[in-house]
Formats: sequence, structure tokens, C-alpha cells
Amino acid sequence: MEKWPIGVFASIDAGLGVKLEVAHELGIPTIQLHAPHQSTRTPENAKRFLEKLGSMNITLTVVFGGFEGESYADIPTVSRTVGLVPPATRAARTREMHEIADFARLLGCDAVGLHIGFVPHDPGDPLYGDVLQVTRGLCDYLKSNGQRLHLETGQESADTLLRFIGDVDRDNLFINFDPANMILYGTGDPIEALRKVGRYVRSVHCKDGKWAKNPGKEWGQEVPFGTGDVGAETFLRTLKDLGYDGALTIEREIPQEPERQKAEIGQAVRLINELKSKILV
Ligand code: MG
Repeated sequence: MEKWPIGVFASIDAGLGVKLEVAHELGIPTIQLHAPHQSTRTPENAKRFLEKLGSMNITLTVVFGGFEGESYADIPTVSRTVGLVPPATRAARTREMHEIADFARLLGCDAVGLHIGFVPHDPGDPLYGDVLQVTRGLCDYLKSNGQRLHLETGQESADTLLRFIGDVDRDNLFINFDPANMILYGTGDPIEALRKVGRYVRSVHCKDGKWAKNPGKEWGQEVPFGTGDVGAETFLRTLKDLGYDGALTIEREIPQEPERQKAEIGQAVRLINELKSKILV
């Protein structure tokens, strides 16, 4: 595949991505997929979906896990509800991640992405050890499927994430780098963070955001790629310096406004193509 194929975050029946048809209409050659609902994760649906992708000439790069009951309403709610960190739902969600990984395998996809949740910053916190354990178990399961785990960035600083990855100590654990999340969550300058964690980055989100007045306490504002504080050109130049040649997956999660979503993704495609022709010479 060419270097830096453009991608988009897509959904079938769950998650906030765009519909596959929109990706096709925009001529986008790759997608990341939000895992569909449990009832639709059947072998028949996998086969049908693969045929559809084939007919549209779209390659699937990552399947993202997500769960019922997760809410991104505000930062404390994320901490309470998202990923494998909340103890009450951890066992059931871990089982579901195995099912999602098996569905991704039916789709021929060797990477599974996940917002793991807020990893405690203090390694002495007992919860930190629990999250290490569950992540190791998930990595081992994925390994037996021939798959990698890509942790979505944002909820941790680069240093916390690096320590966590080192402590998990599995060779199929990597990062899906989302520069906007660093700004939205207030966890650090995205470019500086990208340089620090670059050796683990195997997929990225092209998403943008503006800093909150009180970063880390309140949300920053998500905006179309290229119009926020990430610095789209610096982001791509930094990826080039790091030797990253995977997909550039646009994430614009406003499914309640499908026309605006399509227009803004189209705008991001044009911007990325311009930057590619400037940077990849
Ligand atoms: Mg993201």
C-alpha cells in the first residue's frame, strides 16, 4: 500500500464514526471500524462486510472496541465509565474484547484499538496493578489471534503511557496516537508527546482540538482537522521524522450532523492530500 493512505473512522451500527458509504463517496481507501454491536458480530455479517469493503476497494486497518455504558460527557465521567479500568464492568468487558478480537480476525484485521480508560498515574495504586494484569491478559489473547493492541492516547501523559507500556511488557502492545485527545484531556503538548512515544505508534487519528481554559479539569473543544491547536503540518512532519508510514485516519465524531460530518471529513482529506504532496517529496 502507498505511504500514508488516508482513512476515516467508520461505524456500522455502533460508535460515532461515518457510514461506509460516506467513506466510499469521498474516495477514502482505508477505514478504522468501531466494533458493531454484539448481536451483529456474526460470521455471516463479517463475510458480508468484507465483500462490501472489497467492492468499495476499502482496506480495514484497525477494529476499535467500545462498550455499552461508556460516556464521554465530561472528564470525571470518562474516568468512571470508559474502558477496562472501572472494576465493576472489567470482567465482562474483557470477555467482550475477546469477542471483538475474534470478529476482527474474521475480518482479516491484525490490529485492535481501545480506549483502555484512565490508567492511574501512581504505579503504587492497587488499581494500577489490576489494569496491568488485564492488559497483559488481553495482549496474550490477541497474540494467539496474531493481533496487536493499539492503545488510544489522550487519557494519560506521554510519560505515564510509556511507563505503563513498559510495565505491561508485551511485544504486541502499541499506540493509536490521537493528537487532539492530548489537548481535549489536557494531558500535554501533542507533538512533544508524539516524539516521546513515537516508537510505539502504529496507527493515528487526524483529529484536532482547542485547549480548555482549565486543561485537565474541563474538556477542550473538538474542531475539524487543521483548524485547532494540534498544528496539522507539524503533526504530519513529526510522523515523517518518526518513519511512520501507516494510515492517516480522520476522526470526526458528529454523527448527529451527517452532512456537516461529511463536509468536514472532505475538507480534512483535501488538507491531508495537500500536506502529503508538500511533505512526502
Ligand atoms: Mg481518537
